[in-house]
Amino acid sequence: MATTKIINPATEQVIKEVAIQGAEELDAAVARALAAGPAWRAVAPSDRARLLRRFAGLVEDHLEELAALETANVGKPISESRDEVGMVAEVFYFYAGAVDKHRGATVPVAGGVDMTFHEPLGVVGAIVPWNFPIAIMSWKVGPALATGNTIIVKPAEITPLTALRLAELGLEAGLPEGVLQVVTGKGSVLGTRLSEHPDVAKVAFTGSTEVGREVMARASGTIKRVTLELGGKSASVIFADADLEKAAASTPGGVFANAGQDCCARSRALVQRSVFDRYLELLADAVAAWTVGDPTDPATKMGPLVTAAHRDVVAGFLAPGMGGSPDQPVALAHRGPVPDGPGFWHPVSVVAPADPAWRMAREEIFGPVLAVIPFDDEEEAVRLANDTPFGLSGSIWTRDSARSLRMARAVQAGNLSVNSNSSVRVQTSFGGMKQSGFGRELGLEALAAYSEVKNVFVSTVD
Ligand code: NAP
Ligand code: MG
Repeated sequence: MATTKIINPATEQVIKEVAIQGAEELDAAVARALAAGPAWRAVAPSDRARLLRRFAGLVEDHLEELAALETANVGKPISESRDEVGMVAEVFYFYAGAVDKHRGATVPVAGGVDMTFHEPLGVVGAIVPWNFPIAIMSWKVGPALATGNTIIVKPAEITPLTALRLAELGLEAGLPEGVLQVVTGKGSVLGTRLSEHPDVAKVAFTGSTEVGREVMARASGTIKRVTLELGGKSASVIFADADLEKAAASTPGGVFANAGQDCCARSRALVQRSVFDRYLELLADAVAAWTVGDPTDPATKMGPLVTAAHRDVVAGFLAPGMGGSPDQPVALAHRGPVPDGPGFWHPVSVVAPADPAWRMAREEIFGPVLAVIPFDDEEEAVRLANDTPFGLSGSIWTRDSARSLRMARAVQAGNLSVNSNSSVRVQTSFGGMKQSGFGRELGLEALAAYSEVKNVFVSTVD
């Protein structure tokens, strides 16, 4: 069988060779998932919950191993990998607890009794990107299994290692064969087939808006359920009345975490003009403290980008001609150091002031590049924040609580935070507005994305 070499982005060394599976292997996996469905649905709720808790416990037991694997494969700092694997366990505990609380209703009607059931969909296909491989996989696996579906996960071709290991741990926890499977290979083969397969009931996709559009089109042939978590160009809106020190100190974490390869990255900082210069001074100190280097070092804040090709794409946003003047590279207010030697490094880069019309201020870069843009008043801040086809996340920094609520209602994004850059919690829903996608993951809301309401009316008329 054909294989692909899995590369460590920090060392450029081959970690492992992994199979490139084709459509036939995928079809076989779908057949297994379909066959496993009825018995899995019939597992008593408390037993299904127990299996998910055991799965969560095994993830905790293997936290260091999984975190090291994720860091080797993605290049992300080990501190982030530990947090993300910790989240995987938390996701499984959360949905274990939800199994027997996902209740239907009885509805007052004339002539009988009306009740609702939450039915599983069947076989779910999960298509996962390379930036948060194990975490995003768990966001789909947790609620899918809790609601009685079977699931096939297709990780990104370049980052399959933690997905494969997690599926092994699922078996060890006692999940029956065929309930959770991983297929490895190319999105253009496996992702397209999953999106079209007549026996797949739903596709849960996380990735680019471009591929999401294609998944949705393919899924239409069989009216598959689709949830899409896509790209973003989120803004952090910083008002003059904010705690400017805190806003500036939080900025690097909000955009450079995971080397900016984060759909929630606050890649635009919109800063009120009266504090623009002061904010930049404070930001320079915060960015200088953002250590870039060996991702296995617990003190490292940022590793390399995931591939050389992706690094070149990111660098292209700062190339000559991309920032107003035709022959000049985009002028940087700050450019950080990068290690020598192997690895797909890109420096943290701050562009200030950036013109909202430049490509780097409009398109998702998915790298450690921040555009700082001045605004005059609240109305302009809302207009700039919403001047994008995306709507995933964002932050509002102000001490005025009425303003924070006005802004939170006016900014079109699925996840907003006030005086914080944190977007993702197990307990709260996560997802996009506009072209950042639809459907919600995490929280109790995700249960609805993996089940269908069936309404049953029983006549009581003699
Ligand atoms: P991508 O190219 O869209 O790939 C995502 C997944 O789709 C991968 O598993 C990929 O497989 C697969 N795929 C590729 N072509 C496909 C096709 N024609 N049909 C079905 N599946 C296909 O995205 P990426 O480059 O991995 O990730 C970066 C993007 O993901 C960014 O735009 C980012 O914003 C977005 N993202 C969004 C969220 C969110 O929750 N909103 C979270 C993380 C990332 P291969 O790798 O094998 O090609
Ligand atoms: Mg891609």
